[in-house]
Amino acid sequence: MSKNESVLIVDDSQVSLKIIASCLKDLHQVSIATNGAACLQIAQTHPQPDLILLDVTMPNMDGYEVCEQLKKNPLTAAIPVIFLTGLDAEKDEERGLLIGAVDYITKPIRPAIVVARVKTHLTLKLQRDKLNQMAFHDQLTGLYNRHYLMDIAEREVLTAKRHHFALWVLMIDIDHFKKINDTHGHAVGDIVLQAVAETLAQDCSDQDLIARSGGEEFVILFDPCEDEEAFNKAVGLLDVIESLNPHNINVTISIGMAKISEQDENFGRFLKRADDALYQAKKNGRNRLEIA
Ligand code: GH3
Ligand code: MG
Ligand code: MG
Repeated sequence: MSKNESVLIVDDSQVSLKIIASCLKDLHQVSIATNGAACLQIAQTHPQPDLILLDVTMPNMDGYEVCEQLKKNPLTAAIPVIFLTGLDAEKDEERGLLIGAVDYITKPIRPAIVVARVKTHLTLKLQRDKLNQMAFHDQLTGLYNRHYLMDIAEREVLTAKRHHFALWVLMIDIDHFKKINDTHGHAVGDIVLQAVAETLAQDCSDQDLIARSGGEEFVILFDPCEDEEAFNKAVGLLDVIESLNPHNINVTISIGMAKISEQDENFGRFLKRADDALYQAKKNGRNRLEIA
């Protein structure tokens, strides 16, 4: 555990805040909020706290309500909450744990106990973050992996069909990548993959979904946009990769692209049309874009 983990302390009493902060400030990044509304706001702001220590009895919004709001919001639901409170009845503790707190510490504050429990839950939180990172991301490139893509894209397709959004999917495959491996070695092949991935990600916007779907294949789901914008963005990707020259190697990609249509009852069908277009792009000479 390093001092990088951040703990948000929420308490309406300045005295309590001071005592709790003094227990933790040499071990973690500590920030404070003196009411529930401020807590909810800070919890959503990047970088988010890794853990929240929450008082129960506060004016306006009590800690239970704050905790419920945190757990209801997908942006903050994963932040562990520990109640730190003068309420020591069994039913208070039970209520706190039932609404999603990971722990319940009663006042008067015993510094060693606060430190130990915070440490335990921060460790668990960091482990969970790491597992999520590994489960949803490709280790070599850091992009989303196929598993994550399929999951998210399926929902995007449903939303796009319901609201008639112009959703675009791109299947991208590096040209003659086997030759790069054969000529320069697998390790250099890996560097090329990383460079291509990084460049594709940089060229896309935060709203576009980009994944490494297999060996030297990538899938991009453009945020819904007009035909012309989608076309220009895709052509831009061809150009930016062609001028990349990672490791002084000339690298190009081929792109198959499809726009969502009535016939795409699921993401698999939609992606298949982009894949067929990619096949055409390869057949027609590579380093080019074909639209389904
Ligand atoms: P095309 O233009 O038709 O796509 O030809 P290609 O050579 O790119 O396609 P092919 O499917 O024949 O070869 C892809 C190669 O990518 C084969 C495989 O060994 C290599 N590959 C897959 N994953 C990785 C990886 O993680 N690292 C490296 N270095 N190579 C990989
Ligand atoms: Mg290839
Ligand atoms: Mg391939």
